[in-house]
Amino acid sequence: MTRGKYPNEARSQAFAMIDVLEQRRPGVVERLRVDPLVELEGWDDLAVVYVDEPAGYDRCSVAGSYLHMPPTLRITVAASQRRNGFTGLHELGHHLQKTDITLGGRLFEICPHESETLEEEACDAFAAEILLPDDELRPAIGPKGPLARDVADLFERSSASREACCVWAARQLQGAGVVYLLDADGVVQFAAPHSFIPPARRSDQSGTPLIAAALESQEGHFTRDDTHLRYGNGTLSETLYGQAVWIDQHYLIAIAVRDIVPWKQLAVPRAYTGGSQSRKWQICEICNDFQSDETCESCSEPRCRDGHCGCDVAKARKERPCPQCHLRLAPSRFRPGETVCNDCA
Ligand SMILES: [Zn+2]
Ligand SMILES: [Zn+2]
Ligand SMILES: [Zn+2]
Ligand SMILES: [Zn+2]
Repeated sequence: MTRGKYPNEARSQAFAMIDVLEQRRPGVVERLRVDPLVELEGWDDLAVVYVDEPAGYDRCSVAGSYLHMPPTLRITVAASQRRNGFTGLHELGHHLQKTDITLGGRLFEICPHESETLEEEACDAFAAEILLPDDELRPAIGPKGPLARDVADLFERSSASREACCVWAARQLQGAGVVYLLDADGVVQFAAPHSFIPPARRSDQSGTPLIAAALESQEGHFTRDDTHLRYGNGTLSETLYGQAVWIDQHYLIAIAVRDIVPWKQLAVPRAYTGGSQSRKWQICEICNDFQSDETCESCSEPRCRDGHCGCDVAKARKERPCPQCHLRLAPSRFRPGETVCNDCA
């Protein structure tokens, strides 16, 4: 779901959308949270249409689309009712941004060249915030992040999909790790990473210590200090702390973390034990030094020991070298069409 190029901008737009919505229909957010589709079907200024196949021109990240004239939310029916609810809320997000001048204007103001990308991401952020409101849910988990049980509770109490609950929980991890959803055979259905390489969808984790223990009993919850993730190319992650819990008899929710362990008072940092993939992940693109466990507040990427984070990497990618002075300089230091920088020209 929220796979943002503009995570912070999309989130602030989502809050503005919720304000507009509450002004139009006081109390509506609470009702949408309980059952989005039942609520939306009752509105007279908006049609909700269910279709079997997606239309060819759909540009949404979800299985749906929005028609402006007359306002119509078009939902391609999925097997999961909760997934349909998320789609409906996403399309409601388009409706709000298309019918409120201030919201529409903000998109161009914040993001003049990619306002459509931002609009799309804001729709996802809006739907996620309605279903899983950060400020209300965060106090229910400990300061070190969620337990596997917390993620299962979230799913039972909310109208959000299992995947959305994993995404929310991964965002709350304080250190590097993954929140993943598995079927009753121990195969990954979905994984939400936090500064860590996630296992691939459909990868078999049944042989890893945590999941093997859970599969043996098919109920309850499990904690292991020595588990790992199995990656597609056969390599294993470093040794991780893990916790898993069954939700009904068909799904397992698992959390695997490297260092800041929500269910442990003190987790001793371990010597590096992993395969090539994790090592690559930990190397800074700029200085080739190892990354520490500290993360940057604006990009949420890990920092290297020289203090580089995702912000610096994004900047460095835009810079280009001047063939005369051999400095890497920002685009503004070159005249359009020139290969040498302004100082050397
Ligand atoms: Zn969309
Ligand atoms: Zn670095
Ligand atoms: Zn940063
Ligand atoms: Zn130069």
